[in-house]
Amino acid sequence: MYKPHSKGNTVLEVHLWFKSSLTCTEHPGERSAITNEIFCRLLGIAADRRVTEPDVILSASDIDRLTKALERLNKYEPVQYITGITEFDGIPIHVRPGVLIPRPETEELVRWVNGHLHDQLNDRIRHGTILDMGTGSGCIAIALASRFSGNRIKACDISKVSLEVAKHNALLNKVDINFFICDLMKDNTSELSPSSLGCIVSNPPYVTESDKSEMARNVLDYEPGEALFVPENDPLIFYRQIAKKAFEWLIPGGCVFLEINEKLSGETMHLFESRGFADIACRRDIHDKDRFIRARKPEQ
Ligand code: GLN
Repeated sequence: MYKPHSKGNTVLEVHLWFKSSLTCTEHPGERSAITNEIFCRLLGIAADRRVTEPDVILSASDIDRLTKALERLNKYEPVQYITGITEFDGIPIHVRPGVLIPRPETEELVRWVNGHLHDQLNDRIRHGTILDMGTGSGCIAIALASRFSGNRIKACDISKVSLEVAKHNALLNKVDINFFICDLMKDNTSELSPSSLGCIVSNPPYVTESDKSEMARNVLDYEPGEALFVPENDPLIFYRQIAKKAFEWLIPGGCVFLEINEKLSGETMHLFESRGFADIACRRDIHDKDRFIRARKPEQ
């Protein structure tokens, strides 16, 4: 509980109190980052203003909002669910419980697709329709739509909540995306016809039961399991289905780009090879882990 200071609640004092009361992380850098994010998003006080105007007095309702946020943070709730917003590839993305929080690694997948389409000589693929399978917050589809205004972008998800948030994010970022509900595991979508897509991107669930021991409480306790977890005995369940659908929907020469489980890069590449894909490549993420693959549907 914050005890108001005799001189009033200056932003400097309250900021120090907030940071030192955060028990959800032991890293000082992370405590500062979370505190700055909360001050910026909930109170509209960015770090530079705190430095230039340290004596600004916070109101009782500001302190109340901070106290409630602190309680949630100390129960390991992700800061992005408290502020309701995050940034992905330089664009604002709204999130809420039930929707996976975009990860910085996934920005690299967007950059890979971006480079691939820029270098593409086949005009049908270069300007072709892009599909994001399992779009969640819409982050991949929206980041691509902001880079490729000429391409049609489609995005699907099994979750109604995610699709609502994704549609809202598309409006927020002023991009036009065709969203539709779809269960990847069922072959029932009438939204797509054979050989109609230039490119497919996906970050499907890939975390196994045994990977859970390495994961943080804020992910395990708060993020949607259906966007993260796969059965231990069948971790490539979504990739098999994506390989099948991608082979059907891609224009010959078109590619599928995927985020993957770093422990299963060999198996995932082999899966796509066995389903007829060519030019299979793997890329590492910022943490030097095998994190993405690309596979091309052969020309004939
Ligand atoms: N990389 C995410 C995590 O570690 C998982 C994303 C996914 O399953 N697609 O939380």
